Amino acid sequence: MLFSYLADELEDLETAGLRRHRRMLESPQGARIVVDGREYLSFCSNDYLGLANHPALIAAAQSAAARYGVGAGASHLVSGHSVLHHELETALAAFTGLPSALLFSTGYMANLGIVTALAGRDDEIFADKLNHASLNDAVLLSRAKFTRYPHLDFAALEKRLAASRAKRKLVLTDALFSMDGDIAPVPELLALCERHDALLVLDDAHGFGVLGAFGRGILEHFGIASERIVYMATLGKAAGVFGAFVAGPVELTDYLVQRARSYIYTTATPPLLSAALSASLQLIEKEAWRRDRLRELITALRQGLKLRRWRLMDSTTPIQPVIIGANQETLAVSEALCERGIWVPAIRPPTVPKGEARLRISLSAAHGIEDVAHLAAVLNELESAA
Ligand SMILES: *Cc1c(COP(=O)(O)O)cnc(C)c1O
Repeated sequence: MLFSYLADELEDLETAGLRRHRRMLESPQGARIVVDGREYLSFCSNDYLGLANHPALIAAAQSAAARYGVGAGASHLVSGHSVLHHELETALAAFTGLPSALLFSTGYMANLGIVTALAGRDDEIFADKLNHASLNDAVLLSRAKFTRYPHLDFAALEKRLAASRAKRKLVLTDALFSMDGDIAPVPELLALCERHDALLVLDDAHGFGVLGAFGRGILEHFGIASERIVYMATLGKAAGVFGAFVAGPVELTDYLVQRARSYIYTTATPPLLSAALSASLQLIEKEAWRRDRLRELITALRQGLKLRRWRLMDSTTPIQPVIIGANQETLAVSEALCERGIWVPAIRPPTVPKGEARLRISLSAAHGIEDVAHLAAVLNELESAA
């Protein structure tokens, strides 16, 4: 059998509690979702602001579809670059307070494009051990020297920067780490990059829309700006739609148009998505109550959980991980929650380090305080029964 070695590997994954299964959603994202005909209270999406099913976004997408159709029909450099893409890029630059913004189809592709365009064989890239997989894949594709430092260990990073003889140096970091929910102390990192003449690539996939008084993200959160920062964020999480962008100096985005292969060699996203995103940006900026609600939910969850064996990680963001440890126990808890109509995903290696399997609770402005109180009560009960 040609593929029997794959079947063997799949069986090994199953035995180790590492085989992943997809469940089918039969409703939009929201605080309550329908899976296999059953309603669940959901703590499993990145739709932090509750915008993925917002009527204003749906209306914007519908009227854009009526006027511009559904497919872009070509890549940006051929004939797929729509006036709606252009308007969104202008709005994103204004929103982030950066000179220029460039849309990519996904965050994964944005990271591949940025890193491979900015670094090559003679260069060295320094990356946090807990960075998103797309940043790591980007480095491998770039052929630059790859140096990973322990999570947020800036002393280790500084040593390695000082020892580097590379032509160009790039530091890559998640701004808000997706599996731990902690925020990188970017001002310190920026100072380090200045001392060692390195560029700083910030992946703000989880901070955009969430951090800062107006949701402008990590730069607003810390009140910083620098020409040295290559800012990247995704638009499929808090912004509720799909896509990603890079923002920074005009020379940077102009250069990426010429050299980022994941920008050049792919079809432009449907323009209707850009219309929905322009509507989303306005809500993100205007409706501060969504971020206020998130803060209340975070406090309610942290006060409600009374865990002894399991460990709620130290996080001030909508990502609230509970470390359980073993893969099978984590899965069992996730399943027990499902039986009670609550969906919280089990995150296992290789997404997180071995022995640190966890529940990844993600909160959304669509939740009510009572939803979070219910989750906390059920988790407390499951832990004492275990
Ligand atoms: C989700 C995510 C990405 C990928 O973004 P997509 O638009 O989903 O491809 C990149 N970086 C981080 C940190 C992410 O969490």
